[in-house]
Amino acid sequence: MIRLHVADDLAAGREFPLSAPQGRYLTQVMRRGRGDEVLVFNGRDGEWLARISEAGKREALLAIVRQIRAQPPPSGPTLVMALVKRTPLETTVAKAVELGVREIFLVTTERTNADHVRVDRLAAIAGEAAEQTGRLDIPEIRGPDPLQRVLQARPEGETLIFCDEAGDAPPLLAALGGLSPGPVAILIGPEGGFSPAERSALRGSPGSVPVSLGPRILRADTAALSALTLVQAAIGDWRF
Ligand code: SAH
Repeated sequence: MIRLHVADDLAAGREFPLSAPQGRYLTQVMRRGRGDEVLVFNGRDGEWLARISEAGKREALLAIVRQIRAQPPPSGPTLVMALVKRTPLETTVAKAVELGVREIFLVTTERTNADHVRVDRLAAIAGEAAEQTGRLDIPEIRGPDPLQRVLQARPEGETLIFCDEAGDAPPLLAALGGLSPGPVAILIGPEGGFSPAERSALRGSPGSVPVSLGPRILRADTAALSALTLVQAAIGDWRF
C-alpha cells in the first residue's frame, strides 16, 4: 500500500488535505481516487490507515481511519558526519536512513570547506527515505555545528566509533566485540581527513573508540555507509 509522510497530527476522525506534490502524486501518478486507502505517518504518532475522502485533479483530502502501528521509540546508531559536497552528503543521508540511523549530526571540522548546506532539503530526503523503508521515525538532521561543540555535548555513556583513516586503529568489527551495551555514534571525517589536533582530541574524548575500515582510504560517503552497515549487523537491529 502507498505510504505517505505527512506533517499533520494523526488521530482517528481527523481530515486534512495533502500537500500539492503529494496530492498530484496520489491522483495523477498513482491514479488513486475517492475511497482508496493509503498509509500515513508523521514521525510522532505511529502509522495510520487513511481513506481518500475527496479527490480532485491534483488535490486529495484524507480521512484518518485507525492506527495500524504504534510509534516505536527511537533506535539505532547516531551518525556524526563532517560536511562533504552536496551529492555525497545527500546520498549518505538517504542511505543512512535506510540502514537505520537514529539521527544525523552534521559537523564542521578544520578541513571541511563548508559551503552552503540545505538542512531543510536533507530533512526532506530523510523523510522520503523513511517513507520507502517502512520505518516510522524520521531521523532528525542536526547542525551543522563545530566538531568541538558536538563532542562536548555528547550524551553520557555513549560510545563514539571514531573512523580514523590513519591506519593504526583496530578493525571496526574487532572493536565492536569489546563494547558494553549502550548508545553508539559513528564519526566520519571530511574529504580532507581529520587534523592532527582533532585526532588527538578525539582519541582523548570519553567513550571514543578509534577504528579502521581497512587498508584503503574510503570516500566519506562510502566510509559512513560501511561503518553503519557493520555496526547494525554486529550490534544493531540486523541481528533480530
Ligand atoms: N583525505 C584523507 C581521507 C579522508 S576520507 C586522507 O587522505 O587521509 C574521509 C573520512 O572517511 C575519514 O576522515 C574517516 O572518518 C573515514 N575513512 C575513510 N577511509 C577510512 C579507513 N580506511 N578507516 C577508517 N576511516 C576511514
